[in-house]
Amino acid sequence: MKNISKNILEQISFNTLLYFAFGIFVFLLIWKILAPKIGWRRIQPQAETKPHFFKHDILYSFYSIILSSLLTAILLFLESKGVTKLYWNFEQHNIIWGYSQPVFFIFFYDTYFYWTHRWMHHPKIYRFIHKKHHKSTDPSPLTIFSFHPLETVIEFIPFLVTPLILPVYWPAFFLWQTIDLINNLFAHIGYEFYPKNWTSNPLLNVKTTSTHHNLHHEKFVGNYGLYFTYWDKLMNTEIGEYHDKFKGIYNRRYDHQS
Ligand SMILES: [Zn+2]
Ligand SMILES: [Zn+2]
Repeated sequence: MKNISKNILEQISFNTLLYFAFGIFVFLLIWKILAPKIGWRRIQPQAETKPHFFKHDILYSFYSIILSSLLTAILLFLESKGVTKLYWNFEQHNIIWGYSQPVFFIFFYDTYFYWTHRWMHHPKIYRFIHKKHHKSTDPSPLTIFSFHPLETVIEFIPFLVTPLILPVYWPAFFLWQTIDLINNLFAHIGYEFYPKNWTSNPLLNVKTTSTHHNLHHEKFVGNYGLYFTYWDKLMNTEIGEYHDKFKGIYNRRYDHQS
């Protein structure tokens, strides 16, 4: 019991630190300090984001921090009881599986995210869960953990269940979570940093840009994928103006310079 409470407190401190670094610090850096210089990169320059949206995002992020810390503590408890298949010794399992795990987890999680996200947008479900995350129609780094508690659980399930079913190499597990955090940050950062020709290159265009998810927050319908664009393309849910919107940001830079 003592170990569980210690784990919970450690996880809350760690996740709070992550939110300060990736949410609050990046928000101050990009949206306040660098904004005058990189204003042309702003995805919704016309938007007037109101302070109470920021407060909402911070509040719901702290609910998520507490809940996801509890869920992580459950995973660590199961690990201490030998229930999970997490392992440190790389050679303990098939090496090809060892190397392919990060790629597998990302593609698996992208698919899971696309379909659970679409389900949460179902008109009968939307207002009960996902509406909280959509409070910000103009998302910022403060939005990265801003979810209804049920959505926090839904998005956490793969991290909890995968190590119960499959052998998971600890460093691959950390890498998966790190990539997820960075991708989540860029999805909500509110400024476009992907290079100019990203969406016109068929290979690079497989990966979503910041504009992709930002447009989802602005329009609500379409662009449900968070890592890759192929599910939206396959299911015909990509927002039509995506490519023009992305190009428009770089055209603004030239207008700004001329
Ligand atoms: Zn959504
Ligand atoms: Zn979002």
